[in-house]
Amino acid sequence: MTLPTEDTRVLYPSGAVDTEATVVHAEPLGDGRFAVLLDATCVHPVDAGWPDQGPDLALLHHGAAFWPVDDCIVGATDGSALYIGDDIPVAKGTPGWAFVVVHVVDAAGLNAGDTVTVEVDEGLRDSTSAGHTGCHLASLALNAALADRWKKEVRPDALGTPDFDGLAIDESLIGPNASVDTYRLGKSLRKKGFSVDGLDAALASIEATVNATLAGWVGTDAAVRIDRDGDLLTDRRYWVCELPGASVRIPCGGTHVTSLGTLGAVTVTLTLHDLNGTDVLTMNTSAAR
Ligand SMILES: [Zn+2]
Repeated sequence: MTLPTEDTRVLYPSGAVDTEATVVHAEPLGDGRFAVLLDATCVHPVDAGWPDQGPDLALLHHGAAFWPVDDCIVGATDGSALYIGDDIPVAKGTPGWAFVVVHVVDAAGLNAGDTVTVEVDEGLRDSTSAGHTGCHLASLALNAALADRWKKEVRPDALGTPDFDGLAIDESLIGPNASVDTYRLGKSLRKKGFSVDGLDAALASIEATVNATLAGWVGTDAAVRIDRDGDLLTDRRYWVCELPGASVRIPCGGTHVTSLGTLGAVTVTLTLHDLNGTDVLTMNTSAAR
């Protein structure tokens, strides 16, 4: 077996849903399934470090045979062993380590040197991309709606507004045409200057403000693209949205639609609840396309 010394080249940031690739490594996972590494792929993997966008559905074709991709996960190797997901012992960028896209398949038969055709399910990719773009937009609109609750100066978001989303986010999950963001309004956030006074009573009006902002942005049909420093898995990538008067740029490893108009109507629902003594704000975002 020959584990790669370089990151997998990834093609999904440009929107690719099919490609030819070469198998560089395949090994059994011990549970009857197999890890397949390719030199390049268009399959979006889930990243255990920040698992907001899940894996694409995909097939690997070789000759007349095909292998459904059961799961697709970010892995890493130092050349002696392959580590997958939470088992990766080092941070991205550690010298001597390659970060790779691990395609998990449930049957043997693919070997290093084989040429495969990679085919991603376009419907799920498109709806997940819409969910991801809507998620970024909604977080910016939420930051704007909560801006007057900050009593101290904190780091700004890509529009120059206090970055509530970046400072309070606990979990972000992206699904088809939708996302769920969970924010913890705990002691540390209040120490940074965020006021929760009267938040419950104000929630409906904050929600209406967010939805009005979103309607205005989506109505502009602003262009969306992904800028990247290179094609390797750990090269930095950015979500860029050309809102009127502001080009917004946010670090992001996911996939996106190419313009806001394709989202239809984006709306959020905000709910506040108590979790073991900590206030938790949940934002459910959906795109009615
Ligand atoms: Zn993102």
